[in-house]
Amino acid sequence: MASVLVVEDDGTIGDVVASSLRSHGYAVELARTGAAALEAARGRGFDLVLLDLGLPDLDGVEVCRRLRQHLPAAVIVMLTARRAEMDVVVGLDAGADDYLTKPVRLHELLARIRAHLRRAGPPAAPSVVQLGDLSLDVGGRRVLVQGRELALRSKEFDLLARLAREPDTAVSRETLMADVWDEHWHGPTRTLDVHVASLRRRIASCGGARVPRITTLRGHGYRLEHPDRTPGDAAAEGRSGAPG
Ligand code: CA
Repeated sequence: MASVLVVEDDGTIGDVVASSLRSHGYAVELARTGAAALEAARGRGFDLVLLDLGLPDLDGVEVCRRLRQHLPAAVIVMLTARRAEMDVVVGLDAGADDYLTKPVRLHELLARIRAHLRRAGPPAAPSVVQLGDLSLDVGGRRVLVQGRELALRSKEFDLLARLAREPDTAVSRETLMADVWDEHWHGPTRTLDVHVASLRRRIASCGGARVPRITTLRGHGYRLEHPDRTPGDAAAEGRSGAPG
């Protein structure tokens, strides 16, 4: 049974979400404050956290950052009334994997949770993909660069793993959104660009190593360049005649 920590100070919303999740078979713990959420996360593990950003005691983004330290493998979904893009970027940088804006529709929330937990689950055949000095352990959900672990957020890992499935091949935005996020995703695909940007930053932080590069294909999507390929092997940049 998957376990979910619901962090919501609004009594009605918290109760409705918690009871709906319970009726769908999840083990649910409800925290009304940021402090209660952090205490719950110290006490036990959770597969997924639903985190309201507007909390009475602590800043939601800060709570997210600290939850991420206690629950490195959990999926964190932020619930926010704030639509401003900066809030989204800050939230994702703080370690959230996804966000939903209020008012939350329950069926959408449940679909998102199902999709996240399905993707976070153990893959059938663990495998390691070697890309130059970067080794992607799909089964262990770890990335090593020259033997040292590169910390990635859950969605960054999924994105890298998806691109690495087909190195040097163009992958459309639609395919990435469907495979890494949710086939029912109707939100802004800006989320994809934010994750690609932060994934690039993290990979680039491994200075000096032979690591894959993510190339933007304008009007189409992205392509992961294998670092061991000679430049002539790769398709010319910007060749993006595919629809989309
Ligand atoms: Ca609130």
